[in-house]
Amino acid sequence: MEYFSRRTSSGKNLRPSDLYEYSIDNFWFKAANLENETINEPLRGNHKADIVIIGGGYMGLSSAFHIHQSFPDKKITLLEGACCGYGASGRNGGFCVTSDLLSDSTNLDDESTQKMVDVSFYGLKQIKRLVNEYGVDCDLMENGMLSLAMTEQEARWLEDTAQQMKAFGLESTLLQGASLEAEIRSPRFVAGLLLPHNATLNPAKLARGMKRVVEERGVEIREKSIVTRIVPGKVHRVETERGRIDAPVIVLAMNAYSPKLGLFRNRIFPLCSYIIATQPLSREQWESIGLNQRRGFGDLRAQFNYAAPSADGRIVIGGSDYPYYKNDGLSSGFNASVRDLLIKDLLTTFPQLEGIEIDHSWGGTMSGTRDLTPSVGVIGEHKNVYYGVGFFEGVPTTQTAGRIIADLMAGERNAFTEHAIVNRKIPYAGPQWVRNVAIPVFKTLLTRFGVGRQFIRDRA
Ligand SMILES: Cc1cc2nc3c(=O)[nH]c(=O)nc-3n(C[C@H](O)[C@H](O)[C@H](O)COP(=O)(O)OP(=O)(O)OC[C@H]3O[C@@H](n4cnc5c(N)ncnc54)[C@H](O)[C@@H]3O)c2cc1C
Repeated sequence: MEYFSRRTSSGKNLRPSDLYEYSIDNFWFKAANLENETINEPLRGNHKADIVIIGGGYMGLSSAFHIHQSFPDKKITLLEGACCGYGASGRNGGFCVTSDLLSDSTNLDDESTQKMVDVSFYGLKQIKRLVNEYGVDCDLMENGMLSLAMTEQEARWLEDTAQQMKAFGLESTLLQGASLEAEIRSPRFVAGLLLPHNATLNPAKLARGMKRVVEERGVEIREKSIVTRIVPGKVHRVETERGRIDAPVIVLAMNAYSPKLGLFRNRIFPLCSYIIATQPLSREQWESIGLNQRRGFGDLRAQFNYAAPSADGRIVIGGSDYPYYKNDGLSSGFNASVRDLLIKDLLTTFPQLEGIEIDHSWGGTMSGTRDLTPSVGVIGEHKNVYYGVGFFEGVPTTQTAGRIIADLMAGERNAFTEHAIVNRKIPYAGPQWVRNVAIPVFKTLLTRFGVGRQFIRDRA
């Protein structure tokens, strides 16, 4: 099978210290009270299920939610190596960018354009459904987002983005001078674009809430269950450290961690991002920086920053550098030099905050593909291996991907199953040694000379 390496699933090197971020000074985990959450017992002994989902991030949990909705009588078991939300899903910036699944609409009629918008907006709609119908409290703030320009060229990009939004029937507001100052007080930005349809949230609360919801609906979740080997077939054999489960259908939902199990090797690769959380700002500090609407904001640099207020009044800011570690290494969960860059960036954006304490610093691993685009689909001789990988940004998109998986399983043909990411061939990313050399070189060319900036801008 194309995405299964011959070396698949040797079972070696899958100890948590190799597989996981071991530094966990993560503000979202703390705010979600993760240390006092019940972590489910691992899979032990031999079992059978109708569907096994591997990975308990948003992708796995959303697949579980939607598959259960379409097939309420199927026995679904989800295997998670650490605990649900331990990966990128519990660590990210919390931005819900609703336009992530929009692409060029030039040759589309109005109906097709609207369908694309509906698919792209489905992720946030589903998160709102989880909040409003299932009581998932994830500090969702539907305050929109500011995209901010530091140069005149970037300001022109914002104008282009506003036009693109308009082509999709989506409103946005260009900000300059007083209107920009009314939103954010920083010497750094020359223009902004208010995108009212985006939102921010506490990602770990969302993941843990989704765990509760799918469990309540009857999905079995086994945490602390690292899958060490998958033997694909008409009936798959899925082995964990302490158990085994056989199922005719599996869903691969491990995103950046997949190559560790020999899956999607040389197609997807880990890219890391880091975040800091300040202490809660005083009323005076908030007044000094503006942000009265408590909107998240991001800039347009090649290695951009993303920042959002937390529910308890901190600034949570990430980005500045997106390291790639040699040999597809995963993040340890902490990177001192990126933390220092982030502090510097925060104070350049808001010199008013000089002296502010940094309470937390953490990071995680998301997955890159050569074209920074995900793929969701079904593979295998028996067409019984479903997958969703390559999520560089994935907060709302993985919600949609779970729906796509369920619709594909049900054999439906609709705007979800016909979206361009479905069964998209993931481009070859070269052999490992090429990545070791090419990614750092590309990053240098990108940051020093702007090579590939347009490409990154179109995808971020
Ligand atoms: C620091 C950071 C900031 C980000 N900011 C944003 C943002 O603001 N907005 C946005 O849209 N996206 C953001 N992202 C990306 C987003 O978090 C991911 O795209 C998304 O969470 C991917 O979800 P997932 O379920 O596919 O993967 P993950 O959440 O990584 O889940 C994969 C799960 O698989 C489990 N697993 C791995 N191997 C095994 C195994 N062998 N056996 C069993 N289980 C296994 C892991 O423990 C993990 O829980 C960010 C990512 C990071 C790291």
